[in-house]
Amino acid sequence: MLALHTHAKVSGSFPAYPVKVLDLPEALTTNLARNRVAARLPADVTVDLAALASLGFAGVIADAIPRTSPPLPALHSTADPRVVDGGDVIQVRPDGSQVLVLFRRRSTSNSLFITERCNSLCLMCSQPPRQVDDGWRVDELKQVVDLIDPSLPTIGVTGGEPTLLRERLAELLAHVREVLPDTQIHILTNGRLFADPAFVELFEGLQGSVTWGVPVYADVPSIHDHVVQARGAFLESLEGIYNLGAARHAIEVRYVLHKQTMPRIRAFAEFASRNLPFVNHVAFMGLEPMGFAKMNRDLLWIDPVDYAKELGAAVEWLDRNGVATSIFNLPLCVLPRSSWRFARKSISDWKRTYEPICAKCGELDQCGGFFRSTGSDWQSRAVSPIVRGNQ
Ligand code: SF4
Repeated sequence: MLALHTHAKVSGSFPAYPVKVLDLPEALTTNLARNRVAARLPADVTVDLAALASLGFAGVIADAIPRTSPPLPALHSTADPRVVDGGDVIQVRPDGSQVLVLFRRRSTSNSLFITERCNSLCLMCSQPPRQVDDGWRVDELKQVVDLIDPSLPTIGVTGGEPTLLRERLAELLAHVREVLPDTQIHILTNGRLFADPAFVELFEGLQGSVTWGVPVYADVPSIHDHVVQARGAFLESLEGIYNLGAARHAIEVRYVLHKQTMPRIRAFAEFASRNLPFVNHVAFMGLEPMGFAKMNRDLLWIDPVDYAKELGAAVEWLDRNGVATSIFNLPLCVLPRSSWRFARKSISDWKRTYEPICAKCGELDQCGGFFRSTGSDWQSRAVSPIVRGNQ
């Protein structure tokens, strides 16, 4: 679990735009524009900073402030030096107080946060929306994309609701596809705007590069609309899924597990296998105790061990009916062993944590652990180390 931000000190005027951090040898050979690169200085070698400045680098990253006043901006004395590493894309807040990691080379779960706005208000939203004008993000994200390693296998796009950006979302996706042609894009969307077939056409040509992750929280409108706090949303999302499917887009249906959605889980599995057999994947997801979820704990909390049997029946049903299915965000010890083959290590590496007792667990390497926001009031009574071969 490594945070995506830290504090550091700045000398000189370090750029406020996104820059790529590269260890010195890579910085000297990269094809990236030098004014987009901050060279990370080796700790044990004296570097001619004047020569480096003449090459046009955006700045340098050093463990401590360089002894002589450097001729180019320096970021140094980072509070947690592990946070910023070679290959990452960072942005330094204009006042120099904080460094944000916008892309982490070592991570398997990088994403582009495109907007805080949303047209739903889900009871368990981990990122409560704000109605702000943040259209500037697209231009900044395009700059970030330009600095991402072309070998990146997948990247997420999240919000808020990304489709509210309309043409600008299509513009960003086209840019990702152009700069990172081998990278798969996974977009979290409520899918409501896709109820208009003309809206789907905005994304024509992106088939094969993009998977749309669309939540459906029940097999009936009343429950789904209550969960997302938007009347009519169920029918809009389903219509959107059909329109995306008709346009041959890849779709993942997402079902978040909590007290409001559990009563319909088996019915939902039957509904999905009969009505959505064309989707590529159905994911059942444990709750992230953040944002609105924390505020609505009494409405949402149910110990996962109390729904594990129903969940197991739902995934088995979908599997038997030929629908690829997974369980996300739940540790192995709360699931019956028969469901383990569906469980994925899905929590982003920078959000994932384990309990101290997990050190004794024989399945630690396979287990997806917990969100780091999981306090004791969100912890299952079933968490306990597994002895390999037992159960
Ligand atoms: S004890 Fe910890 S590591 Fe083992 S399955 Fe449970 S949560 Fe995972």
